[in-house]
Amino acid sequence: EDQHIATPSRTKEILQRHGFRFKKRLGQNFLTNPRVLERIVQAGAVSEEDDVIEIGPGIGALTEFLAESAHRVLALEIDPRLLPVLAETMAPYPNVAVVEGDILKVDLPSMIAEHFDGAHRLKVVANLPYYITTPILLHLIQTPVAFAGITVMMQKEVADRLTAQPQSKDYGSLSIGVQQRMVVETAFTVSRTAFVPAPNVDSAIVNLTRRAVPLVEVSDQAAFDRLVRGSFAARRKTLWNNLTNLFGKDDATKAKLTAALASVAVAPSARAETLSIPQFADLAEALKANGL
Ligand code: SAM
Repeated sequence: EDQHIATPSRTKEILQRHGFRFKKRLGQNFLTNPRVLERIVQAGAVSEEDDVIEIGPGIGALTEFLAESAHRVLALEIDPRLLPVLAETMAPYPNVAVVEGDILKVDLPSMIAEHFDGAHRLKVVANLPYYITTPILLHLIQTPVAFAGITVMMQKEVADRLTAQPQSKDYGSLSIGVQQRMVVETAFTVSRTAFVPAPNVDSAIVNLTRRAVPLVEVSDQAAFDRLVRGSFAARRKTLWNNLTNLFGKDDATKAKLTAALASVAVAPSARAETLSIPQFADLAEALKANGL
């Protein structure tokens, strides 16, 4: 088992032989702890019934474990310098396809149709490049693909925001935007020492599964998102302060805001972090009903 790619010695050997130099701006921190990789695959409950998309395989540390458990793996890597390395490290795994591309730009549905047979569950498992964790998550949630599960490693701070509940400092528009559509759970945390080079933050593995129906139904998603973002724009200020910044400070607007807040029994002096997701949805409808 010390033949795994993700051991410090084998990783070092592969990187040296290929003369590879890390690019910090691509979030290149490679896992070198096989135990952590085993636990990621377990957290994603990856089995023969699953086709898996991996974002950013690096030199194949996680890809190898996925290949051993999944039906097929499609690994999407932005850095062309890693393609020859992966060609070598993935040679023993005929069920792995490596494709060069940017997760935020590729056409995922057609890529899925091209590489998978449609008879298996579709999962995403990845150790994400941390510089674009949030854009990737929002992209995956908005992509018209029914993933059975998304199991991703990210910086612990972002995991805390994703799973945050009202009344906590981490609760905000990211928590609400994601929890509205997904059930989010932290599986376990990982020390920065499990990577080369070690990032300057600790990490967490997060499981996201799509809710059968959204936590709240909103009639105008864009208006809801705008309300939530606007409500948290100045966290320390009151809802009233944030809402007048968002909608306007004239008397007519203030009257409508007052009426909308009263109709859902939310105090203008409340702070956004005290409102639950259903309360934000009610407020969005009340604002609309009052012509805002
Ligand atoms: N999976 C490997 C591991 O666990 O050791 C590497 C993980 S490393 C944190 C992130 C990887 O994502 C790097 O290989 C990086 O080149 C790649 N990457 C960065 N931005 C990307 C993007 N927009 N699309 C696809 N891959 C990307």
